[in-house]
Amino acid sequence: MTTTAQYLDEAERFGANNYHPLPVVLERGEGVYVWDVEGRRYLDMLSAYSALNQGHRHPRIVRALVEQAERLTLTSRAFHNDRLGPFLSRLCRLTGFERALPMNTGAEAVETAIKAARKWGQDVRGVPEGDAEIIVFDGNFHGRTTTIISFSSEPLYRKGFGPFTPGFRLVPYGDLQALRGAMSRRTIAVLVEPIQGEAGVVVPPPGFMRAVKALCREHGALLLADEIQTGLGRTGRLFACDWEDVRPDVMIVGKALGGGVYPVSAILADDAVMNVFSPGTHGSTFGGNPLAAAVAMASLDVLVEERLAERAAELGAWFMDELRALESPVVEEVRGRGLLIGVVIRSDAGPARPFCEALMERGILAKETHEQVIRFAPPLVVTREQLQEALPIIAEVLGRPLSPG
Ligand SMILES: *Cc1c(COP(=O)(O)O)cnc(C)c1O
Repeated sequence: MTTTAQYLDEAERFGANNYHPLPVVLERGEGVYVWDVEGRRYLDMLSAYSALNQGHRHPRIVRALVEQAERLTLTSRAFHNDRLGPFLSRLCRLTGFERALPMNTGAEAVETAIKAARKWGQDVRGVPEGDAEIIVFDGNFHGRTTTIISFSSEPLYRKGFGPFTPGFRLVPYGDLQALRGAMSRRTIAVLVEPIQGEAGVVVPPPGFMRAVKALCREHGALLLADEIQTGLGRTGRLFACDWEDVRPDVMIVGKALGGGVYPVSAILADDAVMNVFSPGTHGSTFGGNPLAAAVAMASLDVLVEERLAERAAELGAWFMDELRALESPVVEEVRGRGLLIGVVIRSDAGPARPFCEALMERGILAKETHEQVIRFAPPLVVTREQLQEALPIIAEVLGRPLSPG
């Protein structure tokens, strides 16, 4: 048995069967590259679903992690720590929100946003508990907790996991008419991804987010933007909402906030919403711990100082053009923004999975999402040369070999 096969076997025997990973076992990473246990090198074009925007083991982030680990790692929120204040202030000043509430995983931050919206709905808007509704969209992905899957439109995510949390209403993504029709006095909030990543990098029609914001204002509802995947530079701006100059009432961040080394998430909001929380109403043992705060601060510094959003805008636009120029006979559409790119495989060419396997065999790691879509989302520290090297390989796999020279 190969080394790889042994690791796969062990993980399959002792692990739960809740993932279907590509059969590659990684043991080292640096920048945009990872190496498997057989010594093969791969270009990482998934970036842990955008949790690795700063690349693998960014030296500055690792240094922050190690230095903090040698000083103080965990206090709980029963006490203050000397990293939390600086982190919150850095995050607020960068994003322009008055307050931040740190959590750990993305799903926890989404839950926090839902709790904030519900409490605001009752305390500020005066909507009775049983009436309050949050509008969400078909194809949404906001995490895996029981409340969050309660409003998933994906049967696989829900089947067998009920009873579900009430108080959510689904409308088609990108459909303003439907949204307008669904909004009422009961609507306390709209929860939306500015681009749906897990649904297959689904980009709404131009002006959508701006119109959603306007509808929210009209109905006195909060706009909750889930930018856990699209935020922190991925789409070519700090937030995908920035493309339409939309400022949500609650911004939800995660993934790249932890710089690829540690789970850190947060919600951002102004006093009017954040002040619904009082001591005891919400919390997390690990949320805002000094290790997380030190790592997140370094992650934000790298994002800003290495101009990762600008890089994503420039390289993403170019790379998307190059992918379209391949004119692959198996590709229906190339879509996305910045370095969040979806290549949609024509249904008559079969599912996307075998294409991802073929890419893997040739040293490129990408993962299919929702059967037909290959997501290309490399770390934002990637260079044009590194992407250039990937193009002939992608061309070959998509059935349109480039002539040499
Ligand atoms: C990944 C993701 C989440 C969930 O984050 P976890 O850290 O896996 O809990 C929520 N929303 C969006 C848009 C995501 O991409």
